[in-house]
Amino acid sequence: MTSLQEVRVDLDAYRRNLDTFLARVAPARVLAVLKADAYGHGAVTLGRVADRTDVSYLGVVTLDEALRLRDAGITKPVLAWLHLPGVDFRDAARADITLGLSTAEQLEAAADAGARRVHLVFDTGLGRNGARPEQWPAFLETAARLRDAGRLEIEGAMSHLSNTTPKDDTTQLRQFDAALAAAARLGIEPPLRHIAATQVAWDRPEARYDMVRIGIGSFGLSPDARSSADLGLAPVMRIATRVANVKRVPAGTPVSYGYLWRAPRETTLALVPFGYADGLPRPTEGGWMLVGGRRCPLVGRVAMDQCVVDCGDAPVAIGDEVVVLGDPARGEPGAEVWAEAAGTITYEIVTRIGGRPARVAVGG
Ligand SMILES: *Cc1c(COP(=O)(O)O)cnc(C)c1O
Repeated sequence: MTSLQEVRVDLDAYRRNLDTFLARVAPARVLAVLKADAYGHGAVTLGRVADRTDVSYLGVVTLDEALRLRDAGITKPVLAWLHLPGVDFRDAARADITLGLSTAEQLEAAADAGARRVHLVFDTGLGRNGARPEQWPAFLETAARLRDAGRLEIEGAMSHLSNTTPKDDTTQLRQFDAALAAAARLGIEPPLRHIAATQVAWDRPEARYDMVRIGIGSFGLSPDARSSADLGLAPVMRIATRVANVKRVPAGTPVSYGYLWRAPRETTLALVPFGYADGLPRPTEGGWMLVGGRRCPLVGRVAMDQCVVDCGDAPVAIGDEVVVLGDPARGEPGAEVWAEAAGTITYEIVTRIGGRPARVAVGG
């Protein structure tokens, strides 16, 4: 490791996780979600891996994210599903990007721009993008008219779930069926119907339709309180750094801003050069790191660039490896440790990792 901090992205683990989902959801297809720079892992790096697998589609939120994949030479179909007013759909036409569209106006704009392939987005109860039920008639009539004129191909229909309870998800699935039935009455029967993301794709076969959209699971992380090991997934991101300083301190020694922690007894503290600017959450009650293979609890306030772990009486030296985030199956702190410590979800832990640590791809 030449840099002070290293974010290692394991391309073989990513490929294995995709294979796990491909096998689990077959015959449904898989769309690999690469939005938000692949949740902080690097969208182009992982997109190139996914491009050589059996996944059917790559998915991102914005057209800009989609164009970045195309510009990197990625050739799989790419879907982008959220668009700002005024976005130029001619870019989608030029780069052969599939558009997920939520309104009749967007359908018209896409057809005018020559962007041919679209997925209709339905709001089935999440209250975000997608056409609401009262908008379905106008939305679908526009879609049917543009299709009949040979100006649009309606390849897909999609929606997104709230993951509130299985019962709420079921309500949304039935609403999705209603949207598909309304479309079918106008002769619109898209071959790619999709609504499930990682959690529901994993747990509920009846929610898989023709395709599932896998984000967090492909990065080897659990979407919920289960651990990645419970799901047989391998975390793709591993963050390591090295001990920057070591000090033996007497009982009562306070640590970091606000003196939130004082050594309860004589102990050895290790300074870890990784702080909230690097993505470590600031409230981290219960967080720990692996120092020289031992679990050491984080103590005191996390600072912008550094934090402190309590190594007790273990022998620790400057330069020892510190694993900040890794694979629970190898005894390393998983994203779920930090998610629980910070009162958030694994998704936020990996997407917030900052720009300072070097990203190093391994495997592939
Ligand atoms: C982010 C996102 C996903 C992926 O969700 P995971 O829970 O990470 O698998 C799927 N679909 C849509 C519309 C999304 O925005």
